[in-house]
Amino acid sequence: IRPNIKALQPYRSARQDFTSGILLDANENAFGSPVSVDGITLNRYPDPSQIQLRRRIAQINDVDPEQIFVGVGSDEIIDLLIRLFCQPGGDSVIVLAPTYGVYRVAAEINDVRVNPVLLTESFEIDVPAVMHNVSSRTKMVFCCSPNNPTGNLLRAQDIAALCRRTEAIIVVDEAYIDLAQAQSLCHSVPEYPNLVVLRTLSKAWGLAGIRLGYAIANEQIVSYLLKIKSPYNINALTSEYALKALDNWETVERTVSLVIKERNRLSKELSGLREVTAVFPSRANFLLVRFADGYSVYNELANRGIIVRYRGNEPNLENCIRITVGTPQENNLLLLTLKEMPQ
Ligand code: PMP
Repeated sequence: IRPNIKALQPYRSARQDFTSGILLDANENAFGSPVSVDGITLNRYPDPSQIQLRRRIAQINDVDPEQIFVGVGSDEIIDLLIRLFCQPGGDSVIVLAPTYGVYRVAAEINDVRVNPVLLTESFEIDVPAVMHNVSSRTKMVFCCSPNNPTGNLLRAQDIAALCRRTEAIIVVDEAYIDLAQAQSLCHSVPEYPNLVVLRTLSKAWGLAGIRLGYAIANEQIVSYLLKIKSPYNINALTSEYALKALDNWETVERTVSLVIKERNRLSKELSGLREVTAVFPSRANFLLVRFADGYSVYNELANRGIIVRYRGNEPNLENCIRITVGTPQENNLLLLTLKEMPQ
């Protein structure tokens, strides 16, 4: 923890002390709001400690509410973690390249040095290389599992090895874990005080628009995150709709199996295309695909109104495109367009 944050007297918001009574403490508009949405109270500030939401998320993940921190997407939490642990102008973080770009950008915004360590050829963690790069100024290692954009799950034993062998914070970003139908590492949080697991409602849960992510970490880290977050980061609408959605896992499970079915079909069909040189195995809702000339394919698809992500500039991803699994109709159109493309 940065020393200035250890010493910080956090802002105390009005709603931390009282939530009912004649509320003349927070300079809200007592007369109401110009819109109403499902009877949700909009003229009052939301609960700054997000007790109900954190309790429900904790219950679902079978951990304690004190081990849950909620953010405006996991992107907000990535930034807060960097600000919590890294001294600008001196400390550094390790990212396992190629990976999700926000880790680097969030670090650079905070004037924190980024040290990329390549994943192995099969996109696994190169534990000796990571350990070789850890210095006394390395405060965090970002591990994305399943990794964006390669799509593979990282090996739990490699992550555990990092947790044991360094005091740096090991962030495991599990944004896509529900699509991998794999065990989350959140149950290792009691064993490793330096482990922080990130989850989001933006992917399998289909709620990218409400912006809700969460971290599962030890109570001490969570208490510091609560200290540095902006007072009312999670708005009332997000909170209410997240609570409603979290009761609906059965619906999510159904869409997850649809995505997986489409992912498998798309993978098989893409592998058969002449221009495609590799389709990497994926445990997420996207496929990493290598083409003979990836950049032309990317441009040509965009010209025809199909937007995918060119990843060919990332290390070891020459000519690669990341394609999100769409609906069956969207995927059919993508396949048809690729087949019709001039060679
Ligand atoms: N982590 C990874 C690996 C992602 O791919 C994304 C979204 N692209 C995020 C985090 C951000 O998620 P959120 O919507 O929760 O900010």
